[in-house]
Amino acid sequence: MPEFKIYLGDPYKLEKAGFAAIQAELKALFKAALGKDANVVVERAMTRQQVLSTQLLVYLVPSHIESVAKKFAATEKKALELGVDGTTAIGQSLVGSEVYVRQKSPSDIALIVAHEALHNKLRLDNVRLHTGKQSGSLAAEETGPKLTPADKDLLRRAIKAHSEQWLGGWDAAQSGDPLDGP
Ligand SMILES: [Zn+2]
Repeated sequence: MPEFKIYLGDPYKLEKAGFAAIQAELKALFKAALGKDANVVVERAMTRQQVLSTQLLVYLVPSHIESVAKKFAATEKKALELGVDGTTAIGQSLVGSEVYVRQKSPSDIALIVAHEALHNKLRLDNVRLHTGKQSGSLAAEETGPKLTPADKDLLRRAIKAHSEQWLGGWDAAQSGDPLDGP
């Protein structure tokens, strides 16, 4: 089983996000889908990293106000409605995902990261993922603490897909009001 690497982008250098707990939850969740021998690596990234199209980058931001996906969508001249718990912006060639972490438990955050991973790696927008023919509660954002067999199938399929990750989140977080656009 090759390594699957997840970068948790942390452009705001969150103090209280409980990264160790989030990392542990994510590893457990992806191993539940990929098998316990799967080599799942989760890394916190406070500065810009090189991320491969076979890997996943999800920015953890405090709330919608600090959205970086909004900035990415603006550079792509795309309308973007932010999700309640997380958002994935699908551009021409790049994909940018974020999760709003304020007042969420590490296990909630891990599940939302996994949901955004489906949007990200499969390049599926809200309509196509949430109500499309993808079965499973993770796709519909209605999952409980455990993944269903359909969830695991979808997650396995997703992480084999390549998608080019948007690396502008760290810069976007630096540059003024995120909702102003460029
Ligand atoms: Zn979604």
